Amino acid sequence: MMKTIGLIGGMSWESSIEYYRMINEMVRARLGGLHSARSVMVSVDFAEIEAMQAAGRWDEAGQILAKCGQALEAAGADCIVLCTNTMHRVASAIEAVTTVSFIHIADPTAEAIKKKNLHKVGLLATDYTMTQDFYRGRLVDYHGLDVIVPPEADRKIVHDVIYDELCLGIIAESSKAAYLEIIERLVARGAEAIILGCTEVGLLVKDGDCERPLFDTTVLHAAAAVEFALTP
Ligand code: GLU
Repeated sequence: MMKTIGLIGGMSWESSIEYYRMINEMVRARLGGLHSARSVMVSVDFAEIEAMQAAGRWDEAGQILAKCGQALEAAGADCIVLCTNTMHRVASAIEAVTTVSFIHIADPTAEAIKKKNLHKVGLLATDYTMTQDFYRGRLVDYHGLDVIVPPEADRKIVHDVIYDELCLGIIAESSKAAYLEIIERLVARGAEAIILGCTEVGLLVKDGDCERPLFDTTVLHAAAAVEFALTP
C-alpha cells in the first residue's frame, strides 16, 4: 500500500503548494487514473520562523519544527519532508523526536548530480544555506561534491529576492535577470551545474534558462518522497 508522506510546510507556503502539486502529479504519473498521494501537512506561520532565523534563535525554531514532526507522525505520516532547505539546519531536532524516515533535501539533490557525473556545482540559496555548514557540509563531506557559492554582494541579492519577493509570491523579470547573471559568474568560475537550493527559486529560474543544468531541490525532494511512498 502507498505510504503517507508527511510535509512540514509554510516556509514559505509559496513553495509548499508546489510540493503538494508535484507529489500528486508524480503519483498520478506513476499510478495513473485518479491516483493521488496520501499526505499530511503541518504548516507553520513563516513570520515567526523568519524572525527566529534572523535572531539566530535556531534552537527555538527547531523545537517548533520538532513538534510539527511529532504531529505528522501522530497523524500517520510514514516519512517527514521538511519543505525548506534553510530549516534543515535544525533537521536533527526533528529526527531526535520522531521515529519515521526523515528525507533530507540535500541527499536526493546530491544523488541526482552524481548520477550525471557532475562534480563542481554552484549553490543558490538563502545566505544561511550558502554560508553555514549544515548544508554545504553535507554536500561536500558526505557526498564528495565541490560546492561554490557567489561572493557576498551576489549572495545578498539572492537572499533578499527570496525573502522580499519569492516568499511573498512576487516573480519579477528583473530579479530573474539578476539571478541569471549570478549563475553566469558561477559558471565562469567552473560550476558545471547549479543547485536551486531554496525551495522558491524554481518559481523564478527554470531549466533551459541557462546553459548549465539546474538541480531544483523542490522537484528532487518531492520525487524522493514519492519514491519512498511507492516503494513497498
Ligand atoms: N524556502 C526557502 C529554503 O528552501 C527559504 C525559506 C526559509 O528560510 O525556510 O531555504
